[in-house]
Amino acid sequence: ATFADQYDVVIVGGGPGGYVAAIKSAQLGMKTACVEMRGRLGGTCLNVGCIPSKALLQSSHHYHDAKHHFADHGIVFDGDLSMDIDKMQDTKSKTVEGLTGGIEYLLKKYGVDYVKGKGKITGPNGVEVALTDGGSESLDTKNIIIASGSEVTPLPPVPVDNAGGKVVDSTGALEIGTIPKKMAVVGGGVIGLEMGSVWSRLGAEVTVIEFLDRILPMNDTEVAKKFQTILKKQGFKFNLKTKVVKSVVEDDGVVLTTEPSKGGDAKEEKFDVVLVSTGRRPYTEGLGLEDVGIQTDKLGRIEVDSHFKTAVPSIFAIGDAISGPMLAHKAEEEGIACVETIAGFAGHVCYDAIPGVVYTYPEVADVGKTEEELKEAGIAYNVGNFPFAANSRARANGSADGFVKVLADKETDKILGVHIIGPNAGEMIAEAVIAIEYGASSEDMARTCHAHPTLSEAFKEACMDTYDQPIHF
Ligand code: FAD
Repeated sequence: ATFADQYDVVIVGGGPGGYVAAIKSAQLGMKTACVEMRGRLGGTCLNVGCIPSKALLQSSHHYHDAKHHFADHGIVFDGDLSMDIDKMQDTKSKTVEGLTGGIEYLLKKYGVDYVKGKGKITGPNGVEVALTDGGSESLDTKNIIIASGSEVTPLPPVPVDNAGGKVVDSTGALEIGTIPKKMAVVGGGVIGLEMGSVWSRLGAEVTVIEFLDRILPMNDTEVAKKFQTILKKQGFKFNLKTKVVKSVVEDDGVVLTTEPSKGGDAKEEKFDVVLVSTGRRPYTEGLGLEDVGIQTDKLGRIEVDSHFKTAVPSIFAIGDAISGPMLAHKAEEEGIACVETIAGFAGHVCYDAIPGVVYTYPEVADVGKTEEELKEAGIAYNVGNFPFAANSRARANGSADGFVKVLADKETDKILGVHIIGPNAGEMIAEAVIAIEYGASSEDMARTCHAHPTLSEAFKEACMDTYDQPIHF
């Protein structure tokens, strides 16, 4: 690569936060470089996160459907149905490769310099890159954006060894080559339930071990409870209020020792594979933050003001490396807002309208406040509910599990939160995000014509139920 004498913006990290910021920065006419050490663009999300996990979820969903639901539609197999895991993994890898290549093309198209190597901040205007191909390069820049993302938080009693394949984190779980008979998922959050679903659908007996008394701790409690019931029907086992205190890797599996979270008698159980999915933490190793006077909080997150500015006025930080939900679309929004601010515009992210999706089957999606959050904040609200069992399209599709729940301000009817369990909830939630972003009331949405027959009519009816009554329930 050839390097400019001086950049307007140098971005450290080429994940969804970093590469999106880089493209926007170049589009706004700023001389931009993006430094990435992974060898491929797209960050955690594209390489070992959102995209490969969705590829496996799609493949395993097809298999599960073919095995258990095709017959309902009159589709009969006479031969044996089998799963070629290598082929599934190959399809996943090709998807990832294609998309990372696409991002490299986009950086080129918009004139962003893609610098391959590990970046270290040497001062308010300097980034030193240890180049992947050897040697180093000093980049001089007016502004620096840190988009270095996150990594798996270790769980001391259960050390991960992805290469060994028995105790894995999410990255290792994406590479499993044979279907485990028994799989433990330590941590009942989004990543654990998604990866657990992949292997459960393919035939593994999956046990979720969770410290708290519930799964999906960030979601609405009613939703999390209902969702747990649905997963149980699919064959998931749950050990809630349980902590793992020890793991021993043997030739033919892993013995986990668990105890009640509050303490008590220990139990042992053997699994073929253990997935540790208890959380992620910001990754800022080797960035040189201390030397330039940038602080991190107790959880390792870089401290920034409401415009993503660190204690050093020319250095900004976005995405998983700062506070807020660790989500790709949140990182992207911040990337754009941060660059717009640097360019002198009014960059802004509306944190009340960031959706969260669990890409299981059915999906779980939400935006805005949970019922517990409203109670805690002392905000009076109305609740509307509508089950997919009363939605004609869900019935015709043969997948009517779940419901839409709408929370709106009691006085103004403004929508404050929407929670969906159901087929395609991840796509449906977009409408609720717009409603919140535009300050819509439940009546606004209820009086908006929705195509029939669609799943999104369930949202309209839940809105009707919020301020008045639904028609079909
Ligand atoms: P990252 O994507 O982590 O990118 C940071 C990049 O910076 C990395 O590529 C790293 O190599 C590079 N880097 C770090 N330090 C340096 C340095 N000093 N020099 C050069 N390069 C450096 N989110 C969703 O929204 N939807 C999902 O469905 C979803 N699924 C997920 C599934 C899994 C299994 C996992 C693990 C995560 C998932 N996430 C999902 C979360 C999502 O991946 C992250 O929120 C997102 O990638 C954060 O983007 P980022 O740009 O902040 O950081």
